[in-house]
Amino acid sequence: MSNTVNLIYSDVFRQNHSPHVKHPENPGRMRRVLTGLARHGLKSFINWHLPIEGEIDEALKVHVRGYVNYVKDLFNKAPCEIDPDTYVSITTLKALKYSIGTVINYSLKAYNDRSTYFAILRPPGHHVGRGGKALGALTQGFCIFNNIALAASSLIEHGISGILIVDFDAHHGNGTQEIFYETDQVMLIDIHQDPRTLYPFTGHINEIGLGRGEGYNVNIVLPPLSGDDVLGLWFNIITDLAKQYDPEVVLVSAGFDGYVNDGLTELRYTSKAFYRLGKLISSLNKPTFIVLEGGYSIGLEEGLPAFTAALASIEEPMASGGSRTPPAIFSEAMSIYRETITMLSKYWRVK
Ligand SMILES: [Zn+2]
Repeated sequence: MSNTVNLIYSDVFRQNHSPHVKHPENPGRMRRVLTGLARHGLKSFINWHLPIEGEIDEALKVHVRGYVNYVKDLFNKAPCEIDPDTYVSITTLKALKYSIGTVINYSLKAYNDRSTYFAILRPPGHHVGRGGKALGALTQGFCIFNNIALAASSLIEHGISGILIVDFDAHHGNGTQEIFYETDQVMLIDIHQDPRTLYPFTGHINEIGLGRGEGYNVNIVLPPLSGDDVLGLWFNIITDLAKQYDPEVVLVSAGFDGYVNDGLTELRYTSKAFYRLGKLISSLNKPTFIVLEGGYSIGLEEGLPAFTAALASIEEPMASGGSRTPPAIFSEAMSIYRETITMLSKYWRVK
């Protein structure tokens, strides 16, 4: 079908997992998404699908038993905190069961149907490693189970290998990197704000994978204040890498916190960037499963609709314009770009 997009959502993600103190990762995020999609006239282009309930123990596909048991134990103590960033409420269990079931079932469905599904769910996941905090981070950054890693691991269990994960959340997906760092069954391309300036402080360009995974972990680093033009530098590289890896399926950690003034980061993307990211993902022409990561205010109301419009092949006026990066920052971005190309050219044809 042309001009439609498959979105997975129900109010199970708006009615559960509520913070007991003021927190950016709260149920109001879902209202912002729905408002944004409606405001941009996208509702008639959406095929809605319901989330599927899973079991907490299915998280063992990625996480170690000790961590899964620790989380289960917290359900009895809720409301409580895993760390200063990450809370557990009395209804978190329900949100997590539906996240787990949704990512496992719909990633396989996307593969089998050769189609694209976008799961609008919470809490996010990409900061969690196998045993909780990843790569020495101080917190789990609002995340409890790693949704995109669960999708990838479950596809691998089905004999599907050659999985490209594109993570465009403004923070580094340290959990996802940690989990797949030593395998070539997954290629991770992670685009994020310079980790010298932002949590979780990992995701440097020289973290390229280990052993069989060497060359399959790609960090694309943007200096603070980077706009759409800096992101645009990378589109050909991402496409080149994806074509050479030639995955069986594409998974996306879709975060919208790089939108200018979304609140938690210093990237300055506009709707144009997210529209182009949607076009790029579509142009790979592979079965695709997308899961929501971050995005806390305007990013959800403007960036997510622009991305969704591109997935639905709708020509969008919001794709015009775009943010320009200050010249000094752009030069810094270019020098990171050249350094990254030199690094990647040991493994891939990139120019
Ligand atoms: Zn983020």
